[in-house]
Amino acid sequence: MKIRLASTLQKDSIVDGEGIRTVIWTQGCPHHCPGCHNPSTHDFKGGFEVDLETVKDEIKDLKGQDGITFSGGDPMYQAKACKELAKFAKSQGLSVWCYTGDTFEEVLEDKEKRAFLDEIDILIDGKFELKNRSLDLKFKGSSNQRIIDVAKSLKENQVVLVPEYIEPKVYAPLYQKGEDLFI
Ligand code: SF4
Repeated sequence: MKIRLASTLQKDSIVDGEGIRTVIWTQGCPHHCPGCHNPSTHDFKGGFEVDLETVKDEIKDLKGQDGITFSGGDPMYQAKACKELAKFAKSQGLSVWCYTGDTFEEVLEDKEKRAFLDEIDILIDGKFELKNRSLDLKFKGSSNQRIIDVAKSLKENQVVLVPEYIEPKVYAPLYQKGEDLFI
């Protein structure tokens, strides 16, 4: 099987998830979010194709990495290939994060995307929204996006966010009304 990538694997990233990670930049995204940081990855015929076995060899040779992160592009549109790579990465002791412009609920509706979820530890979902963009957000571009604990969400049959990445401003409206949270 082959996968279409936008670039070679990017090692030592500290901005694409927890710890030191290697990013797999997939090619192809249907969402076309205004303000997308990576428009060159939208074309499903762009980038280059590579055998999964070649990518697995590169993953096997990684040193000093905590995990891999699928980004792009939208990895969910090559879910079958990404699942195989994710499964292999996990067998090497690496954690798996994945970005997608789909929502978690949309991913659940598609058989191949749902199967890929089984190999993902953390999913950052939702389109990038320019009006909700903030540089203060950790590991995401806009506040509508959610950093989701996949295993817990599947178990509890509802979206469970990773607590340490829920931004405090979720509570801002209460303070703005002058209410005291400690009464
Ligand atoms: S989902 Fe991501 S890669 Fe796709 S257009 Fe939106 S920001 Fe860009």
